[in-house]
Amino acid sequence: MAQKKFSRQKKSIITRKKSGASKTRVSKYIFNKKKRNVVSGRKRKTPGSGRGKSLFCRKNLELAATICLLSLAVVLFARILRWEPVAGQSPGAVQRQLSDTEEYQILPAEEGPCGRPEILQDYIVKNPYSRSGVALEQVNGIVVHYVANAGSTARENRDYFENLKDTHLTKASSHFIIGLDGEIIQCIPLDEISYASNERNGDTISIECCHPKKDGKFNKKTYRSLVRLVSWLCASYGLSDSAVIRHYDVTGKMCPKYFVKHEDAWEDFLSDIERKLEKNR
Ligand SMILES: [Zn+2]
Repeated sequence: MAQKKFSRQKKSIITRKKSGASKTRVSKYIFNKKKRNVVSGRKRKTPGSGRGKSLFCRKNLELAATICLLSLAVVLFARILRWEPVAGQSPGAVQRQLSDTEEYQILPAEEGPCGRPEILQDYIVKNPYSRSGVALEQVNGIVVHYVANAGSTARENRDYFENLKDTHLTKASSHFIIGLDGEIIQCIPLDEISYASNERNGDTISIECCHPKKDGKFNKKTYRSLVRLVSWLCASYGLSDSAVIRHYDVTGKMCPKYFVKHEDAWEDFLSDIERKLEKNR
């Protein structure tokens, strides 16, 4: 029986030699050398067997597949941990990412005499003290205010409104706050009422302005942003400069202080709005 097997193997070798496949012989040599180093057991030493060749091919394939899988795993892992930035990522994409995680967004400035100025939308959380969520069903006017806290920033005033949900000090808020650097923060969506202008809360949009000193006079940056914001709102809602009023015009309150004390400055401001609206026509 063993003899028969041996003669069959021998025959097989001779057949292969006859075919002159030198390439097969080289691989057989490598395979056998490897086997001698790695595999113990006489059976595996059989030179030139078809079984050994296919085992060799399978091993190579397994090795290649393992390398591929490992490379894929490393690339995926690196992507997950953001070890390397995604090629071609635009600044816009970064901004979107920020707005998703930080829950605010920047509306870029628009061209034109009544184009929208840049606005940072950072809405305050809905609460009974500063953001009721009640719908603003019509807009018949724009009301200008001053924050009455010299040197305070737009951010500080926005956070003061938001914190009313915890402090319960009063009911107050504003659709917009313009800061000392001219930055504009929107606290309330334009389809909700704010708590700023008493009986006109239901049909107006409110704008609070920061000021460096107690006299309430707006600096140039704040003033410029106020003109841009009011012009844009008037154009958007089809309002004329006559729809722009002071808090004082609603309740007689000294707000905005400088524009109440200096009627001429208020008239100049309204003229600036009028000029912008005319240019827009
Ligand atoms: Zn006011």
